[in-house]
Amino acid sequence: METEQLEKMVMEVEEIVLPVYHHLDTISAVNHRKVLDAFRAFQVSDYHLKGTTGYGYGDLGRDTLEKIYARIFKTEAALVRGQIVSGTHAIALCLYGVLRPGDLLVSATGAPYDTLEEIIGIRGNTPGSLKEYGVNYRQVGLTPDNRIDLDTLASVLSAKPRMVIMQRSRGYSWRNSFTVNYLGKVIEFIKGRSPETIVFVDNCYGELVEQFEPTEVGADLVAGSLIKNLGGGLAPAGGYVAGRRELVEMASYRWTAPGIGSAVGASLDFNRLLYQGLFLAPHIVTEALKGAVFAAALMSRLGYPVSPSYDEMRTDLIQAICLGSREKLIAFCQGLQKGCPVDSHVLPEPWDMPGYGEQVIMAGGTFIQGGTLELSADGPMREPYAVYFQGGLSKEYVKLGILSAVQNLKYFK
Ligand SMILES: *Cc1c(COP(=O)(O)O)cnc(C)c1O
Repeated sequence: METEQLEKMVMEVEEIVLPVYHHLDTISAVNHRKVLDAFRAFQVSDYHLKGTTGYGYGDLGRDTLEKIYARIFKTEAALVRGQIVSGTHAIALCLYGVLRPGDLLVSATGAPYDTLEEIIGIRGNTPGSLKEYGVNYRQVGLTPDNRIDLDTLASVLSAKPRMVIMQRSRGYSWRNSFTVNYLGKVIEFIKGRSPETIVFVDNCYGELVEQFEPTEVGADLVAGSLIKNLGGGLAPAGGYVAGRRELVEMASYRWTAPGIGSAVGASLDFNRLLYQGLFLAPHIVTEALKGAVFAAALMSRLGYPVSPSYDEMRTDLIQAICLGSREKLIAFCQGLQKGCPVDSHVLPEPWDMPGYGEQVIMAGGTFIQGGTLELSADGPMREPYAVYFQGGLSKEYVKLGILSAVQNLKYFK
């Protein structure tokens, strides 16, 4: 495509996305208020922003931040730590913290996120998997139209599972993400049939995208990563767990040791960054969403199937774009990389990433290594060769990144 043609198309796209941007701004305003109210409720002061060393006893900044998270999620408790190394780690804390030998874990949203396969014990024979500990697992596949299969779920619930896990975001699969409202209906369905079952939501990429979080519609426990939404692009590392006090405590016992839990853990120099990142998160999440909306509108005009479409309701940051071939997936990612602020000169290649079944290509020249609230794209080397793209600290930077990716695609018609 000629440059003038593309420029014209970009101008048209900028016009059609405006009503969607306006809608995102209204959600963003609600979330800004929610975050500010929490800061005010707990009287955040300068001393909260300083850290501790060693055991980290009496770390007021750390403990207050956890109260702020709990208030935002409308939960009894939260565990928010820089030493939770990733979203997978936060999820693993919940699974290992709560489940016991003989328990049944059910995934209601089909295959879990790739990195959970080895944890649960459904791929490979990894020592220390839940399976090795005697935790049973059943997976309820999605219906052909990618909804939760309530009939099958109902029959599995008759076994009174200890926990049902649901994944809000699409992850690396070509399905819709599940809105909070929809998750709430399914949670009601689960609790109606098996009131004791703990509902745990993998909330990665979903935080602050809607006005409500899964914990406000009945989820007992949620977890996620701080180098995604809630870190606001500033958190250098970390993860969180939020939910019922007893469950968060169990997760914290797994995180350190039984009896010690969340009473220790020096915040070092993290506090200010975690506070400031959370403060900015409603804004940065909205910028990322606007960038995704732009990308969806542009890529679909260029003839690529996209999901969600630019004007569809969103519940997470991920924009899937179906590129259709290995070559185009690589070209898109390499082009996007050229549009990043860090390492714009390097060419990403597919590689065997730990925890993933296939090779994965990842583009992302980010300030925080692997930080996916920053502009980044990744795709597993499998059909339909879709790229899953997310983040961007400002919508203008997202636009520049996407245009760079589009330029790189033009050699593969
Ligand atoms: C990112 C993500 C995770 C955890 O991934 P990490 O790379 O370990 O932070 C889990 N589930 C979903 C749906 C995710 O998007």
